[in-house]
Amino acid sequence: METTTKIIERICPNCHETFKVKVYDNLNITSNVEMKSKVLNGSIFDFKCPNCGILFRSIYSIVYKDIEKKYIIFLNMKNKNYDKKIKKLEELYPEYKIRNVSDMMDLIEKIYIFEVKLNDKIITYLGYKIYEDMTRKLSDMKSPIKISKVLFDSFNPSKNQVNFGALNNVQKRIFISATYTDYKTLQNSPKYIQCFKENPGECEIDQNWAKRI
Ligand SMILES: [Zn+2]
Repeated sequence: METTTKIIERICPNCHETFKVKVYDNLNITSNVEMKSKVLNGSIFDFKCPNCGILFRSIYSIVYKDIEKKYIIFLNMKNKNYDKKIKKLEELYPEYKIRNVSDMMDLIEKIYIFEVKLNDKIITYLGYKIYEDMTRKLSDMKSPIKISKVLFDSFNPSKNQVNFGALNNVQKRIFISATYTDYKTLQNSPKYIQCFKENPGECEIDQNWAKRI
């Protein structure tokens, strides 16, 4: 699971020049720890046009691996079928969590969740419940604010807080907290215990997954 690169083509949004550029294909963050901040702030996806010099962001597919914390996240921007690759990895590394996401924000969210050693399934479910609750309240209030997604923000065990941020149509920073007690209650709930376990082949842990359980 070493770091590898690939050559991709980008088109400048300003002067429309097409150029080739080397980017990461597999990124082993344990041996390239200097890249972590660039993934977390998105700048790993920034390009500079060789013709006009403009800077722009353009997300590409990448496989992010953390050997220390034992997880692999596929950021899948082309709807590529990774099923075979994932299955092989599951066999090779049965103790790893493997996830498949199609949005940069989702990749960053997963990294933040695994960084603080929380279960992303419980967090995704909690986030979805907050999303449902807020959407209902805003609609009852006839508010113009619409929430598109609720993402994990941070974990503060000393304050018993699990913090989330709500992406919305008015570009406001909206933060909501659940308690760590809520998290623990879900974790120990006999109703959900099976859902929150690792199941082979179950790699897309997102709002749709939360809706189904
Ligand atoms: Zn350009």
